[in-house]
Amino acid sequence: MIINKISHSRLGVFDQCPFQYRLKYHEKIKSLLPEPLYFEYGHYIHYMCELVVKNKMTIEKASIKAIAKYGDFDKTYISRIPNMVSNFKAFQNSIYSDEFESESTEIEFKIPIKGENFYFNGFIDRDIRFKNDNVLILDYKTSKKRNQVNKNYINQDPQLLTYIWAYSETTGTPIDAISGMLFYLESGDKLIARPDSRSVSMHIHECIAKAKKIEKMEPEQAKANLNKFCRWCEYRTICPTFIATQK
Ligand code: SF4
Repeated sequence: MIINKISHSRLGVFDQCPFQYRLKYHEKIKSLLPEPLYFEYGHYIHYMCELVVKNKMTIEKASIKAIAKYGDFDKTYISRIPNMVSNFKAFQNSIYSDEFESESTEIEFKIPIKGENFYFNGFIDRDIRFKNDNVLILDYKTSKKRNQVNKNYINQDPQLLTYIWAYSETTGTPIDAISGMLFYLESGDKLIARPDSRSVSMHIHECIAKAKKIEKMEPEQAKANLNKFCRWCEYRTICPTFIATQK
């Protein structure tokens, strides 16, 4: 199957359901369903955070501007905004200490893999650099508390391992100086990973091995794997395996 680029989300789709990977990334079939509302909510939050950090806007003003651009979500989401804004504000107030040096947002990486036809690709929501040469990289999460990653396994979180590696590769910052944070805006929880370079390197090797497996796999071998997320899958109306379960 086609795998010209690998990312945390693409590999996640393959792990969850190889057939879904085939439809989305190999056959590039557009979903017939409208974009879910939580996508719009996610766009709103990321844009709001970007306006605050990059354009130095107040959180209130940024929230209004972001809603004007990405506000097509229902009341359930609107009721979640005040908590999220207040947690983001508290975080903002906590980071600009004497140790703060600089920061940036929406950091894209594209890292070719030597000897392979694919590259690693992704976006890091934000980095915060400190005067002691340490760096914190962040990923904003908009999911509810029950969907949070288990904090006991945060040092093995695949997304943070990938981002820490990518940040180190693109900036030359040693792995040991980088921490990764999943910031759950709604609950205010901040899960921080400080993996060692061995764990990061092992994870990247596993990702490359998986990408090679996808590359070698014939599309017909990519079987549907029914799972708890099928009812939100963008292909559920055309997936024969899922349709058969609805009869
Ligand atoms: S509905 Fe379920 S089984 Fe079918 S493609 Fe989607 S994730 Fe896979």
